[in-house]
Amino acid sequence: MSEASPFDVEATRKDFPFLEREIRGQQVAFLDSAASSQKPRAVIDAVSEFYATSYANIHRGVYQLSAEATEKYEGARDQVQHFLHAEDRREIVFLRNATEAINLVARAWGDENLQPDDEILITALEHHANIVPWQMLSERRSCRLRVAPIDARGEIDLNAYESLLSERTKIVAITHVSNAIGTINPLPEMIAMAKARGITVLVDGAQAVPHMNVDVKSLGCDFYTFSGHKLFAPSGIGVLYGCHSMLESMPPFLGGGDMIETVTFEKSTYAKSPGKFEAGTPDIAGAIGLSAAIEYLKGFDQAQLERWETGLLTYAEKRLSELDGLRIIGNARNKAPVVSFVVDGVHPHDVGTALDQSGVSVRVGHHCAQPLMEIFEVPATVRASFSIFNTPSEIDRLTQALSETMEIFR
Ligand code: PMP
Repeated sequence: MSEASPFDVEATRKDFPFLEREIRGQQVAFLDSAASSQKPRAVIDAVSEFYATSYANIHRGVYQLSAEATEKYEGARDQVQHFLHAEDRREIVFLRNATEAINLVARAWGDENLQPDDEILITALEHHANIVPWQMLSERRSCRLRVAPIDARGEIDLNAYESLLSERTKIVAITHVSNAIGTINPLPEMIAMAKARGITVLVDGAQAVPHMNVDVKSLGCDFYTFSGHKLFAPSGIGVLYGCHSMLESMPPFLGGGDMIETVTFEKSTYAKSPGKFEAGTPDIAGAIGLSAAIEYLKGFDQAQLERWETGLLTYAEKRLSELDGLRIIGNARNKAPVVSFVVDGVHPHDVGTALDQSGVSVRVGHHCAQPLMEIFEVPATVRASFSIFNTPSEIDRLTQALSETMEIFR
């Protein structure tokens, strides 16, 4: 990889206190950011400072602390609005995670808008979070779930995708980036094809937001979802972007405090969005942590980060392909920094356990994408995923530990 890269990874590494941690006497090589990201000091400090100095419940207090907490929580909404380039702050709903956001749309929008025999289109690349809620909706509404296929590289077959769009298709739910094999989907084309037919589009952005600039307005999707914990923020906070008219037309998902306008024993009326979808006390500190994470990322040149991460991916694919008996799963031309692979004669779980002995943390398993594993005819893979603090020397450690493991099993 290019030594001339102006990105200062050593300075970035100093932002992540977890790197001081040793695993089995070695500094940890954390190659599992696709599962959940590590947290920079800026996020940890923002959350602990909030709890230490200005904690209170939001929206209802008349006192100073509550007003401050409300201001920070609503400020986080503005931050996310700008981060996603949404037109209106009311288009940002805070939830627990991407899973909850997809379930909200499947329930609140799906139950209202789908009729028997209608179709929902997903792709073969989806995480279970973007499969199961649509299966449940299909059962409730007697609809059909259809799946756009991929080719051997792990790229969407765009012709097949387009031919599956019909007047029966009511929603297309597609991942921006595959968590299991890293494919970046050609969203502009896919969304344009759906929109030309008046079809609603939801994008699962869980794996995209940590790696690329996302502009929901220019994408033209109706819904976009992500989880804070993959974006350097705490776990427990997630986001649903929904275009304003769509959210306003939808009934609430959960009922309770904070989502109402008036309540009598006979009847309740609801708040406008986003409040309508934020019943109960939300993850206030999580939203503040998410805002700090976005602020932290704003300190970097996004193009430089992308170059660094792409460099790591290219280097990892080169080093791994030097190992005889290792097969990379998913060779899309446009990939996020994720590399999935299998090793001849060694189960991925054994590979993962052996790597851990060398302080190298990777993910093994089906990555909540069992149907995709079936397409590639593997039960599971080993997945290394990279973030802004990873280095080529950590990839060397991965390669070395893999080579030793393969030797033992030979
Ligand atoms: N979609 C994708 C592509 C993912 O990678 C994940 C998390 N692995 C999810 C959805 C679900 O995220 P969460 O568990 O935070 O709801």
